[in-house]
Amino acid sequence: MDKSLRVWVESEAGRCVYCGFCEPVCPTLYPGGHRGYGPRGRVNIALNLVEGGKPTEEVLKSIYSCLLCGACNLVCPAKIDIVSVIRVFRALMWRTKTY
Ligand code: SF4
Ligand code: SF4
Repeated sequence: MDKSLRVWVESEAGRCVYCGFCEPVCPTLYPGGHRGYGPRGRVNIALNLVEGGKPTEEVLKSIYSCLLCGACNLVCPAKIDIVSVIRVFRALMWRTKTY
């Protein structure tokens, strides 16, 4: 189960083309203070960690400060389900306790 979720996050997040169209609509980006608190940052943090990266406190804050509002999903030209990437990634963190 966890492996299939990891593969799904990798395939979904791996389609990000770094265009940044999602950033202006995200309510947490500017309060957060840097791009790690926006959709592009979160998608690529999730991708990095399922590919073996190690989390920091800042990374965990980024993932858990997402409001799951879905505004980014509506504007992503790659049609990435960003909300689901973040939700599934949170579930993986919880289940594996490795992130
Ligand atoms: S779902 Fe999360 S990343 Fe997307 S716009 Fe809302 S707060 Fe930002
Ligand atoms: S809009 Fe989609 S493809 Fe563009 S940076 Fe955001 S998540 Fe990546």
